[in-house]
Amino acid sequence: MWVANYDRLPTRCRLAAWDTSIVKTCLLCGHYDESRDHLFLRCSFSEHIWKEITVRLGYRPFYFHTWTALIAWLDVGDTTSPLTLRRLVAQATIYSSPCLCKDIDRLLRNIILARKNRSKFGCLMQVWLKHTV
Ligand SMILES: [Zn+2]
Repeated sequence: MWVANYDRLPTRCRLAAWDTSIVKTCLLCGHYDESRDHLFLRCSFSEHIWKEITVRLGYRPFYFHTWTALIAWLDVGDTTSPLTLRRLVAQATIYSSPCLCKDIDRLLRNIILARKNRSKFGCLMQVWLKHTV
């Protein structure tokens, strides 16, 4: 969470600043540049997670459009949900996103490897790994 808060995660936008050959497009949705705010707050996948989380906390579903808005929400008390629970949920949500990407990557690799002798799967691993950062 500390690394995310200081925007020091190796998102594709940050990596592309060092290596212009790196594609900045979001790995999950493929539509927008993969910045911290997009990856954790504005990507359609993240928005789905935040919708579920905010409902579980007792709020009507809402989204954070900026990191500043998320941090402000974590500093303000309200009567809907305890501040400590919101902070725990936010940290778990931020931590879970990269883990989810790794799980998806591992699942895809296992599926492709298990079927590597089938004609439709022959070149899939090469394609899947082509844009790995
Ligand atoms: Zn996205």
